[in-house]
Amino acid sequence: MDRKILLIYTGGTIGMKENPDTLLLEPFDFNQILQEVPELRKFDFAIDTYSFDPVIDSSDANPAFWVRLSQLIRDNYAAYDGFVVLHGTDTMAYSASALSFMLENLEKPVIFTGSQLPIGMLRTDGKENLIDSLELAADRDAQGHPCVSEVCIYFENELFRGNRTTKYSAEAFSAFRSPNYPVLAEVGTHIRYNVPSLRRPIRWGGPLLLHTQLDNRVAVLKIFPGISESYVRGVLATEGLRAVVLETFGSGNAPSYPWFLDALAAFTSSGGIVVNITQCLTGTVDMGTYANGDTLRQAGVVCGRDMTTEAAVTKLFVLLGQYSDNKTVAIKLEFDLCGEIS
Ligand code: ASP
Repeated sequence: MDRKILLIYTGGTIGMKENPDTLLLEPFDFNQILQEVPELRKFDFAIDTYSFDPVIDSSDANPAFWVRLSQLIRDNYAAYDGFVVLHGTDTMAYSASALSFMLENLEKPVIFTGSQLPIGMLRTDGKENLIDSLELAADRDAQGHPCVSEVCIYFENELFRGNRTTKYSAEAFSAFRSPNYPVLAEVGTHIRYNVPSLRRPIRWGGPLLLHTQLDNRVAVLKIFPGISESYVRGVLATEGLRAVVLETFGSGNAPSYPWFLDALAAFTSSGGIVVNITQCLTGTVDMGTYANGDTLRQAGVVCGRDMTTEAAVTKLFVLLGQYSDNKTVAIKLEFDLCGEIS
């Protein structure tokens, strides 16, 4: 077998099965995955497995977990052609975004997948998601390069760029969307890659650079009509806070109340970063369109364009971890680092 994929199980619904005695869902021994999904034996590439111990519900994902996962990938990078990460759906978009920023110069597929129903259930979506993800991770183009060379999420026949993705449905099998970026591949009777939208290295063979210094001194402030001064000031007064992801209305607008703008301006002029992203699922922030957006710019707010909340938060974690100077972080924030901004 000429190709090898590392299948990493971190936790989540996909790795559960019903205990016949209690009827409760419990994680099964992941080393027995071939017994649960015997179809995996039919692949013409090798699959090794690694299970986190203990596995986590993805609601417990955090920077330490991302560091562990990214180090596992780095340590096995040379030995494998691709990686499939089984992960709970709840924070999958955060983890995929985080890894996209942490694994700089990635040239191999890192495909996150999971399921809405456990793999041990009859109607599970998990088997198909797993089998398709493995096939995508092992696929090569005519030049022998991996067809996918970035961090992705695969769910219900669609491959998405990880840092463009958001969990869209708590129930539907098609649980993810990538509202501001095209689907990278569709899996039907054939795998159809959207080649122009795939991220490719400028030159193959560069070294993988891992960023494991993450700084979580970040807040997300979602504004709403009637938001109170004490709430906004309370968030901005959070001890040690370095950056705020401001979720604004429409194309980047926020209230024009003087106390609101004063509070933001005081935070930015004392060195804090405020990045403006929209609450809308599609479209981009443009602070030059309306007076209420322009005032934010005057208050020192940085434009996050069409970044998802997941991408903005995790990009900040990685940049703040890399640079102690907030000015540098604010500049880098507006640049597209790995396909997260249009
Ligand atoms: N709570 C689970 C998790 O995110 C749900 C899932 O796996 O889809 O870990």
